[in-house]
Amino acid sequence: MQAENKFSAENPIKTVRSLYIHIPFCAKKCIYCAFFSAPPSENQIEQYCQCLLIELEMVAETLKPQTIFIGGGTPSLLNTEQWKKLLKGLERLNLLGAEEFTIECNPATVSDYKARLWLDYGVNRISIGVQSFDDDILKLLGRIHNKQTALNTYETFRKTGFENINIDLIFGAPGQTLDLWQKTIQEAFSLQTEHLSCYELTPEEDTEYFKSLNSGNNTVDEELVSAMYDELVEKAYENGLFRYEVSNFARDKSNVDNGIPSFACKHNVNYWRGKWYYGAGASASGFKDGIRTRNVSNTELYCQLLKSGKSPVEEIDKIPPLSRAGEIAAFGLRMDVGWGYAEFLNATGFDLRTHWQKEMVRLIGLGYAVGDEKSFRLTPIGLRFADWAGELFIR
Ligand code: SF4
Repeated sequence: MQAENKFSAENPIKTVRSLYIHIPFCAKKCIYCAFFSAPPSENQIEQYCQCLLIELEMVAETLKPQTIFIGGGTPSLLNTEQWKKLLKGLERLNLLGAEEFTIECNPATVSDYKARLWLDYGVNRISIGVQSFDDDILKLLGRIHNKQTALNTYETFRKTGFENINIDLIFGAPGQTLDLWQKTIQEAFSLQTEHLSCYELTPEEDTEYFKSLNSGNNTVDEELVSAMYDELVEKAYENGLFRYEVSNFARDKSNVDNGIPSFACKHNVNYWRGKWYYGAGASASGFKDGIRTRNVSNTELYCQLLKSGKSPVEEIDKIPPLSRAGEIAAFGLRMDVGWGYAEFLNATGFDLRTHWQKEMVRLIGLGYAVGDEKSFRLTPIGLRFADWAGELFIR
C-alpha cells in the first residue's frame, strides 16, 4: 500500500492518465467478433458492476484519468439504474472529470434518459457501432439493429447535446460491393460526425466468419477491399475528415496538435504514443512502469476473485525497455504523422535512428516510408502495410 501511495497525485509522473473499463456483455454475438463478450446471465450485469467498483477502489489512488474509455462488449446494454450506480461509484472514487470520456454503444440499446445521464456525469464522447447502413449487410454480420435504428440513435445523442460522436464502420463484408460501401460512407458523411473509424472485416479465429471462410462458403476479394479503402480515404478527405491513423479519421485540421486533428480520440492516441493506462474489468490489460498486466478473461472468476478481496490480475509481464520501445515504434507508425525522433526518444528513452536504422532504410527503399532530419513516417502506400512494417520494429 505504501508503494502505491508513492504513485499518487503528489507524484504526477507516476500517475496513470488513461483508464479503460471493459463491459463484457452483448445482446447477441456478431459473426466476426473475437472480443471478450457474451450475452449476460441473470443478475450478472448487476454483480459485475459492483465488482468493477471493487477493483477500481483498489487502484483509485494511482489514477488521475484525463481520458476514460468504457468499451466492450456493449456498455450501452446496462440499464439506466446500473449506469447510475456505476457512474456514482466513479464519482465517489474521484475518477470523474476527464478531459475526454467516451462510452461505446450499439444502436437499439440507447434511450434519451440514458444519454442524458451520461452527459450529466461528464461523458463527452460517444462511439456508435453502426458498422453499415445497409440492412442486408447488418443482418449478415449478426447485428441487432438496422439502418433506421442507427440513425435514430445518432439523433438521440445529438438532441441530448453530444458534440463529439464517432461511428464505426466495417468494409470487406461478404456480399458488400463497392457501390454498397460508397452508399454507406456517403450516409456517414452526411451525418457530419466528428470522427469515423473504419475497419476491414478480418477473420479472427473462433468466430463464425472465420469458420465460413475456412469451409469455403465465403472468400475475400483483396482487390475489392483495397479499392474500398482507397475510396474511403479520398471521400473522407473531401468531406473534411482527415485520416490520422490507418483506420481513424477526424475533423478539424485547422486546430491541430502535432499534426493530429483536434477531434482525434485522445485515449487511443495515448495508447499509440506509449503512455501508461489502466484497464479495469474482465480481460482488460494495463501498462505502467515497464509492467504489463492482464485480468482474468472469465467474468464469473473475475467477480469471485474480487468478492473475496483478491486481485483479478492473472498475468504480469515485465517488458524489457527495448521491447516496449519497439512496440511503441510500431503503434506510432500507424499514425499519419509517424514519429518525431525527439518525441520517440522522450517516450521510450531510445533513439529510433540508432536502434532501427536498418528497418528505416529498408522501408524508405521500398517507398513505404519517408524520413527527414526531424521525423520518420509511413507513406500512404506504406500505411496499407502498417502491420507488416510495424512487425519489423518489434524486438
Ligand atoms: S456488439 Fe461488438 S462486442 Fe458485441 S458481439 Fe458484436 S462486435 Fe462483438
